[in-house]
Amino acid sequence: MQKIQIYNSFSNNKEQFIPLNSNKVKMYVCGVTPYDTSHLGHAFVFTFFDVVKRLLTYAGYDVTYVQNVTDIDDPLIERAEKLHTTSEALADKWTTYLLNDFNFLNIALPDHYVKASQELDTMIQIITSLIEKKYAYIMNGNVYFSTQTFPNYMKLSKLDHSESLRISVERGNDIKDPNKKNPLDFLLWKKSKDTEPKWSSPWSEGRPGWHIECTAMSTKYLGEQIDIHGGGADLLFPHHESEIAQAEAYSGKSPFVKTWMHCAMVYLNGEKMSKSLGNLIYVQDLAKLYSANAIRYYILTHHYRKEWEYNEMDMILSAKKIISIETDLKDCKEQTEIIDHKILDLCFDDFQIPDVLENMFTTNNLKQKKLLFTVLGFR
Ligand SMILES: [Zn+2]
Repeated sequence: MQKIQIYNSFSNNKEQFIPLNSNKVKMYVCGVTPYDTSHLGHAFVFTFFDVVKRLLTYAGYDVTYVQNVTDIDDPLIERAEKLHTTSEALADKWTTYLLNDFNFLNIALPDHYVKASQELDTMIQIITSLIEKKYAYIMNGNVYFSTQTFPNYMKLSKLDHSESLRISVERGNDIKDPNKKNPLDFLLWKKSKDTEPKWSSPWSEGRPGWHIECTAMSTKYLGEQIDIHGGGADLLFPHHESEIAQAEAYSGKSPFVKTWMHCAMVYLNGEKMSKSLGNLIYVQDLAKLYSANAIRYYILTHHYRKEWEYNEMDMILSAKKIISIETDLKDCKEQTEIIDHKILDLCFDDFQIPDVLENMFTTNNLKQKKLLFTVLGFR
C-alpha cells in the first residue's frame, strides 16, 4: 500500500500514517456553529478534508467521515435571542446555507453529518460515567470536568498556565465561576435560564457543553479510538484538548486520536478572518465572479498547515489556470487508471496539494490530468 505521511499536531512531527484497523480509516472533523454565514476559512477546512477523504479512498482505504453541526452552543443561543427567533430555526437556516456552499464547491457530504441536538442521550450517558469515575463533579445544576484529575491535560496544545487562562477567557470560559474547583475546569452540562433552550438531565434542565458534544458524536459513530481528528487550528485549545480528556477518561483507552490535523487560519487585510472582526470573504460572493472549480482550485493552492491571506490577484490567476485545464480536458474522454507515483508521493507527503495542482496544470499527459482533476474533486 501507498506510504502515507501526515503531520500530527499532537507530536508536532510528520509520522507514517497506519490506521488502527487495517484499511479502515475513521475520521472526525469539527463542523460549524451555525449562527451566521460561513466564510472562506470554513471552506478551506472542509474542502481540504474532502480532498483527504478522496485521496485516502483513491489509495484503497475505506474511510468513514463524521462531521458535526454544533446546534447547541452559547453564541447560537445569544444570537437567536437577539433576533427574536429560536436557536433551532437559526441553526437550520445557516446549516442550509453551509450545505449549499458544500454542494457548490463539490464538497461531498460526510458519511454521518450529525446535529448535536440529536445526540443528547449519548452525551448524558458519557457525563454520567465521568461523574461515577470521579473525573467530573456536580455544582448547583452544572457539571464540570475536573482538569486536575487528568494529568495529560494540555499535552496537545502545550500551552503554559497563563496562556491557557488567557485563551480560555477569549473562548467564553468563565474562569472566575465560583462553582469551579479549578479555573480551567470546563462545563459538561450547564443549567439553562428560563428563556434558554433546555433538555432534561439528572442534574438540571439544561444543555451540554460544546466539548462533550463532539466527544459523544465521535464515540457514537466511530468508536472510542479514531484515526484522524481534524479542524481549524483555533480549536486546538480548549476544544480538542478537552475532547481528549473526556474521551480518554471515559473509555480508559489512549490515544483517543491517532493523528490530529489542524488547518491554518485564513487572513484578510492582515487580520485573521473572523466573525467578530467582520473581515470576511464569503463563498457566495466569490461565486458571483468565479466558477466553483476556480474557487476550489484557489483554496487548494494553499497548503493546509500554512496561514494565508485572501488575495484577489491569486484568485484571478487560479481562475485562469483552471480554465486552461478545463479547455485541455474538453475533448478528453479517458483517464489513466493510476496517478503517477511521483505525484502520488506528493499527495501523501502531508498533502502537498499546491504542488499537485501545479503538476496537473503543467503536465502534457491529458489522461493523467483528467484523473487528477477527478480525484481532487473538480467537476
Ligand atoms: Zn468539535
